[in-house]
Amino acid sequence: MHHDQIELIPLFSGSSGNCILVRAGSTCVLVDAGVSARSVTTALTAAGYDIGQIQGILVTHEHADHIKGIPMLAKKYGTPVYASAGTWRAMHGKFRDCPHFSPFTLPGGSFYIGSLCIEPFALSHDAAEPTGYAFFSGGEKASIATDTGYLSRGLIRALEGSKSILLESNHDPEMLQTGPYPYVLKQRVASRKGHLSNEDCARALVHLANTGTEKAILAHLSRQNNDPALAHRVSFDALAQEGLDMERDFSLSVAAPAMFEKEKKAEPLVSLLI
Ligand SMILES: [Zn+2]
Ligand SMILES: [Zn+2]
Repeated sequence: MHHDQIELIPLFSGSSGNCILVRAGSTCVLVDAGVSARSVTTALTAAGYDIGQIQGILVTHEHADHIKGIPMLAKKYGTPVYASAGTWRAMHGKFRDCPHFSPFTLPGGSFYIGSLCIEPFALSHDAAEPTGYAFFSGGEKASIATDTGYLSRGLIRALEGSKSILLESNHDPEMLQTGPYPYVLKQRVASRKGHLSNEDCARALVHLANTGTEKAILAHLSRQNNDPALAHRVSFDALAQEGLDMERDFSLSVAAPAMFEKEKKAEPLVSLLI
């Protein structure tokens, strides 16, 4: 049974670039590759993997911090690229050289890559057709949702039942309001097409914990408007208040901006313990 467990391994997270390795048995895919192709291959090696093992790159949306390295990876290694039809249209100019490309429609059905069944769902973000992903393997579910301004009931439903989840905990609302961003950008981040606050994230995790979620990785933290210890504390306290034994019943960690830097020892999933 253990070989079917779905692992979510954030290689890069935040506005400087996002790339998450998803593994189930021998099936490996990436969600986004928003850093250079070289950074992706280097991080994969540091994490104990090889770019040749990657069977597909699933794109969440066309913002640079999510797609930067994809054209080169697709061209150099022939890695197949998957994205919603709207995302594909929005990034088409840069992606002419992708040899294998599979657009899908939203809402739509699920598809397989190796032993992973993948179910894309729509997010709420200022992009053409932003997408989150749920993964199924061996009776287990895991999901990824970053870059969404809010979590609608439909979105929450798409996440329910996930044993592990990588969820955006982008900003502290007060740090955002008092911080250095220009007014228009503050409004955009806080809007329903922006990014999830620590509190939104914590509220969702409390609900999801009641649907079977045992492991959460907080991701896409703002460097300006958040602090890893604060993001961790907000979700930790909310879950603990709900009566969860945070040592036994739940694993909560924060994705670092670059989890597998050369000099650092590979330490998947946990970048910060409080
Ligand atoms: Zn974005
Ligand atoms: Zn982003």
